[in-house]
Amino acid sequence: MSELKKVITAYRKLSFVDRVVFFSTVSNDVDVREETLQHFLIETRMGDELACLYCQGEHVVRNGKRKDGTQRFLCRDCGKSFIPASNTVTSRTRKRMSTWVKYLKCMLDKKTLKESSEECGISMPTAFSWRHKILDALREVTDKVYLDGTVEADETFFNVSYKGNHKNSKSFTMPREAHRRGNDVHAKGLSSEKVCVPCAVDTSGISYARPVKLGKPNSSCIFTVFDGIIAPDATLCTDNENAYRAFSKNKNICLIQMETDSHISVRDGIPYGIQRINAYHRTLKEFMGRFHGVSTKHLGNYIVWNNLITNNKRKNEETLGQLFAQMLSSGICIRNRDISSRSPLPSLEV
Ligand SMILES: [Zn+2]
Repeated sequence: MSELKKVITAYRKLSFVDRVVFFSTVSNDVDVREETLQHFLIETRMGDELACLYCQGEHVVRNGKRKDGTQRFLCRDCGKSFIPASNTVTSRTRKRMSTWVKYLKCMLDKKTLKESSEECGISMPTAFSWRHKILDALREVTDKVYLDGTVEADETFFNVSYKGNHKNSKSFTMPREAHRRGNDVHAKGLSSEKVCVPCAVDTSGISYARPVKLGKPNSSCIFTVFDGIIAPDATLCTDNENAYRAFSKNKNICLIQMETDSHISVRDGIPYGIQRINAYHRTLKEFMGRFHGVSTKHLGNYIVWNNLITNNKRKNEETLGQLFAQMLSSGICIRNRDISSRSPLPSLEV
């Protein structure tokens, strides 16, 4: 077999995401021309046989074009009509794929809703729902991490915010009197008005965090957050918090805890600390600060966003291409009303 044929055969075996990585590595850029993106979606999502996006049937025919030039297909097996980006978070938006790529780029550049909506020519409410659709689709990327080596863990807290729950809601009643923006939560300490977010970061800087409950952490919430995320042969470093002890014992993970008021603990002549996790907390708080108060129901998504950026050490173009592919391969459809009707507080079972 010729070298070229070998490459083509190998290419056909690649997954959708790997094909994008391959493309962006070879071209060192993401081609955001609409025509190229459409062609790319047909090739990667439907394959050479033009398989149906719903039933995988191969009796699919071209079925004219939409006004904007997007190719339509019809599946003779299941009778569904679709376009190359159907059945993804971009469904029902009738916007061009190039606009979605541009928007994703704005997110990687940490742009505000106003900046992104102006740059992409979409309204502010649309920009807001795209933000959450993208983060829902990309949650898998930040959830699939595996922390290894020396892992530092510590929880951080965010004030509860019911922002975004009142509008058009018949079912939501404010559980307490409203705070004025900027006012700190009245009770100092870990009251039930703080959302607990256990966070961890490993030797290579890969991090994981997730809002879990109100108030102080307990061992079951540490379990919920870190089970399957921290490698069994890792060394876990934390402050003096009790909640980590049961977890490390059950998982047989070596635990090194700092004495109260001490930032360092020496074990077998090796100093262990929690500076890296403190630095992660600072970065996360700084990131959240850009949005002037994040609603608690969306806190998890903003953490996904922060971690997408901090976990990605690759070149921007590769990341963009890869994330775009990931976004369209996750196969989830989210309606705007699903975003606003999310639970106002962390809803994990702990
Ligand atoms: Zn079909």
